[in-house]
This record gives sequence, structure tokens and C-alpha cells, in this order.
Amino acid sequence: MDRFSVAVVGGGVAALEGVLRLRKLAGDAVDITLVAPGDEYVVRALSVREPFALGAADRHPLRPLLRDAGAEWVRDRLAWVDLDGQAVHTTDGRAVGYDALLIAVGGQLAPAYEHATTYRDDRADELLRGTVEDVEEGYSKRIAFLAPDTPIWRLPLYELALMTANRAAEAGMTDVEVVLATPEPAPLAAFGEAASAAVAELLEDTGVTVHAGATIAVPEAGRVTIEPGGLDERFDRVIALPRMTGPAIRGLPGAGAHGFLPVDGECALRDGGGRVFAAGDATDLDLKHGGLGAQQADTAAAAIARLAGVDDVAPAPLHPVVHGKLLTGRRPLYLRARLVGGGSFESEVSEQPLGTEDKVVAAELGAYLAAHRG
Ligand SMILES: Cc1cc2nc3c(=O)[nH]c(=O)nc-3n(C[C@H](O)[C@H](O)[C@H](O)COP(=O)(O)OP(=O)(O)OC[C@H]3O[C@@H](n4cnc5c(N)ncnc54)[C@H](O)[C@@H]3O)c2cc1C
Repeated sequence: MDRFSVAVVGGGVAALEGVLRLRKLAGDAVDITLVAPGDEYVVRALSVREPFALGAADRHPLRPLLRDAGAEWVRDRLAWVDLDGQAVHTTDGRAVGYDALLIAVGGQLAPAYEHATTYRDDRADELLRGTVEDVEEGYSKRIAFLAPDTPIWRLPLYELALMTANRAAEAGMTDVEVVLATPEPAPLAAFGEAASAAVAELLEDTGVTVHAGATIAVPEAGRVTIEPGGLDERFDRVIALPRMTGPAIRGLPGAGAHGFLPVDGECALRDGGGRVFAAGDATDLDLKHGGLGAQQADTAAAAIARLAGVDDVAPAPLHPVVHGKLLTGRRPLYLRARLVGGGSFESEVSEQPLGTEDKVVAAELGAYLAAHRG
């Protein structure tokens, strides 16, 4: 009899965590095929260090990881899903059949403001190195960091603002003004009250001016308006996070708000017929966060193992916990909260790691990378 076949699509933290967890839970009861175009896993969260010459984003080759996980690799890009025929089709015309499918292709990024520099983690150094140098040399005095009002992980914006302010101070540029504007009701509100208050204090101590609850516009290059408050100011540099939309995959039903894939508590795609699961930034989970994507992948892997008939696997419904390691250019700050029904609870903040040093927390992938470091 053919073994239960699982197709996993994507090459980021959610896809790789899904592959590793599924192999751990289901052993050789499943065949796993990964469909991904790139040959590396890039820790996108570390890209913020690049413009400050503090190190490049970590990169890990996929081939050995997939070999160790006993997974096939189709190096190609998903084009569409044939739900009735239980197959994914790639842009190069290949078809990969499946008994269960895990989609983890991330979101799509686009500029949120026409007249701002859009931060891209894959071009961080090229986009921002000049800004950092201009601040150090005294050519740029007023820098704005803006967050759009769409689902996106906003922690990097805080890191960029803090690192810029600290770099200016280190260079003796005492007249540099760093402003951060965000639609969040308070700085990094997703981490709950205690952590958010600590971040607000850190920003103030570092000299970063924050406008929270902001409606932001950039009507022309160098000009930013912020409501409420009627602020209309000029800046030497305006840096903004991109806005993110869902992956819009042909053949999949019911893309929700902004095109993200709607999933239930077991990360099964709603109206997907019970064999299609999704994890990570591609889904309609409010927060776009690598650690949460990994937790979704673990949940989906448990459901897929059960679908494959592996009896001793318990359901693992999602109970999300959000971890943050806020890089500041000095000592990092560690944040953690439990997310329940749109609220954040058990908010924690510490200058010591809260259980892990990892920037992106993924149980299986983190353990695998730690064991194969160096
Ligand atoms: C600057 C920055 C800092 C961040 N900091 C943190 C942090 O500190 N902690 C944290 O947890 N999260 C952080 N995040 C968020 C985190 O990086 C994302 O939430 C996470 O990468 C999402 O993982 P993913 O696997 O869902 O998608 P992605 O990381 O976007 O990976 C998607 C993968 O799918 C592949 N793919 C895309 N389209 C297709 C296709 N059609 N067919 C096949 N494959 C495809 C891509 O090549 C890629 O390999 C940060 C993000 C950024 C940009």
C-alpha cells in the first residue's frame, strides 16, 4: 500500500517546522515532499542588524535539513492547487500529489507609502546603510519610522528606531530626532501591558518620540502627517514597514481579509475539505510572527499525523504564545505574552532570555539548528 503523502509548500520557518514536527510525530508512516524555490532558510528577523554592520541575517542550507528529515525536495514554486485532484501544480509545470497539504508560503509585501523608503528584510543593508551613515556623520537629523495599519510584524520598526537613536548617541550626534509612529494603541501592545510599558520606557530613555494610535500619511517625500494631533512635519529620512497581503493561491477557497488563508483552531483551511492546512504569515492569524507560524505548523502537523492514521498523536489545538527579542544596539529586551481571543495575557519582560535566546522561536527547527550549529 502507498504511504500517506504530505506536500509542504514554502521554505520559511513555518514550512520547515512543519516538516520536522511531522516526521517526529508520524515517523515513516508518511512521505513528505517540500515544494520551495529557494535553497536556504533565512532568519529574516536578524536582517535589522545589517545596516548597522552588526552581522548579516543567518542563513541555513535546506538540502541537509531535508535529507535529515527524510523529505523530498521539489525546487519550484507553487502555481495552483487542484483540490479535487489532490495535487499542487508548480510554475514549471510539475504536479505533486498529496493526501494532506500544508501551505506555508508567507505573505506578499508591497510599499505602504509611495513617498517613503520601504524596509525590506531581503535588502536591509542596501536600503538603510546610507541612512545610518548619514546619521553618524551629521547629515540627517530627523528620521521617521512608520508602521502601516495592516497586518505586519512591527517589532523590527522599534529595533530600527532604537538602533538608530543609539548609533547617533554613540557618534556624538546629540541633535538627532528619531520619531516612531504606529497605529498600535501602545508600543508593541501585542505583548501586553507590562512588556509594552517597559518598551515605552526604553524608547523614552533612548530619546525616541512615539506616536501611538496614529493615522499616518506621507503626502510627499520627507513630509509626514499624523492624526490625532494634526502633526505635519518634515524629516530628512522617512522609513516605513511594508504592508502585507495574503498569498492569493489559485484553487484555494475563501481567502479572508487582505487575502490571507482562513484557518480553524487546528490550522485546517476553512472550506478546504479537511486535507489542506496552512501556517505562518499566509494565514489569517492577526499577528504575523515567525514563532506563531511555527506553533501553527506544530498544530497542523499533529492534525496531519492523525489524518495519516498515527493513533497515539493527541490533537494539539493552537494556544499561541508570542516571544520577542528586541534588539536595541545595546542590551536586548526579552518579551513574552500568551494570546487569547484577541487579548494578551501573562505579559512578561526581562533583560534575561525568557526560556530561549532565539529570535524566532520554533521548537523543532530551533533544536535542529542548535544541534547542527557551526
Ligand atoms: C525584519 C523582520 C523582523 C522580524 N522579527 C521577528 C522576530 O523577532 N520574531 C519572530 O518570530 N518573527 C519575526 N518576524 C516575522 C517573521 O519573520 C515572519 O513571521 C516569518 O518569517 C513567517 O514565516 P513563514 O514561514 O510563514 O513565511 P516566510 O518567512 O515569508 O517564508 C515563506 C517561504 O515560502 C516560500 N514561497 C513563497 N511563495 C512560494 C510559492 N508560490 N511556492 C513555494 N514556496 C513559496 C518563500 O520562498 C519562503 O521560503 C520578522 C520579520 C521581519 C521582516
